[in-house]
Amino acid sequence: MKYYSLNNNSAKISFQEAVIKGIAPDKGLYFPEKITPLSKSFFKNLHNLDKNEIAFELIKQFVGNEIPENELKSIIADTLDFDFPLVEIEKNVHSLELFHGPTMAFKDVGARFMARCLSHFNKDNENEVTVLVATSGDTGGAVASGFLGVKGVNVVILYPSGKVSNVQEKQLTTLDENIKALEVDGTFDDCQNMVKTAFLDKDITDKIQLTSANSINVARWLPQMFYFAFAIKELNKKSVKTVFSIPSGNFGNICAGMMAQKLGLPIFKFIASTNANAVVPLYLETGNYSPIKSIQTISNAMDVGDPSNFIRIRNIYNNDFNKLKKNLESYSFTDYETRNAMYDIYINSHYIADPHGAVGYLGLKKFMMKNKQIQGIFLETAHPVKFLEVVEPVIKKSIKYPQQIMDVINKPKKAKFIKVYEELKHFLIN
Ligand SMILES: *Cc1c(COP(=O)(O)O)cnc(C)c1O
Repeated sequence: MKYYSLNNNSAKISFQEAVIKGIAPDKGLYFPEKITPLSKSFFKNLHNLDKNEIAFELIKQFVGNEIPENELKSIIADTLDFDFPLVEIEKNVHSLELFHGPTMAFKDVGARFMARCLSHFNKDNENEVTVLVATSGDTGGAVASGFLGVKGVNVVILYPSGKVSNVQEKQLTTLDENIKALEVDGTFDDCQNMVKTAFLDKDITDKIQLTSANSINVARWLPQMFYFAFAIKELNKKSVKTVFSIPSGNFGNICAGMMAQKLGLPIFKFIASTNANAVVPLYLETGNYSPIKSIQTISNAMDVGDPSNFIRIRNIYNNDFNKLKKNLESYSFTDYETRNAMYDIYINSHYIADPHGAVGYLGLKKFMMKNKQIQGIFLETAHPVKFLEVVEPVIKKSIKYPQQIMDVINKPKKAKFIKVYEELKHFLIN
């Protein structure tokens, strides 16, 4: 499969090159040249297939013959080595729990898949690759865990000091080996800017092969298609229209859902649920896309003021605003509403949602108010324990640490504190 840059000023490249490069030389995001829908019978037969078979069918054309079939199957089996339960918390309202992986957020799937692909491509290569990534919280842990011990790959993670939760910080600073954490005196945007500057710095790129591991990378983004099919497989009522509400920040997850729909997965509509960073809801309302400086909220993994993947979404709909609008609704919610939702869900359904899942729930309920004959799924993108500081005071109950968290919480933090870009540069070059 060939990939082209959405800025249209770079050469087409293979899946392998797209995974290794991350972003095109013209700074565009890579997009597959062709999307071929799967057969109707595949989707009809979904409930008879296991998750590895489903995943293989969905991703196969995007990898092409660049990874042998058996190897791809084993990468998938390894990546998806945990559960994806669909829990009905109210009539026709389902939570798709994407937090049963090693770092308890949905980003595990993409990070694990990408790490295994890179490892495959790099196995005969003498040159090391350095994954450089900025995180607002969950990406860092998922990437650290996904790439731990992968031969030929070094990982450098930048995170904003004091702005990630305690659990998140432990997950990305306690692993060692090929994983290094840099604690940046600044915001997520500052981290992101340092990373972008490094990618364009010839002093660095002449010396080391850098790649990104956020949802810009096709190997992190595309495997997220799987969840949507896993959820549809579990639904009993096949005749009722299905909508997904996706708590969105960089819009990688929802964009992957739209790819799955393009392949033929029966999805009636998408709801992009956001926090106060309401760029996309405003766009759908006004037709003007105006990025903002990100606003800090309690659903911090979605504090994004200029969602990178939105350009991919526009492309899926051939840049046709009306076509997009027919398939996508988007609503924004305040922290106050989010806390209330967490409380209501706990009281009414005895279910503990994290702040991101609660935003997804709110979006789904808002849509269902005016659309009766549907069944809805919101993505529960992180385990509530990752956001204890927010969740516990709302539900007034303490949450037990699951095993994955116990494993890291008492390990000593190792991070290098940096203030300016020159320190990052020095670190990478030496
Ligand atoms: C990253 C993240 C999101 C946002 O996902 P995008 O693909 O960036 O839209 C939502 N919830 C949680 C818990 C996350 O970690």
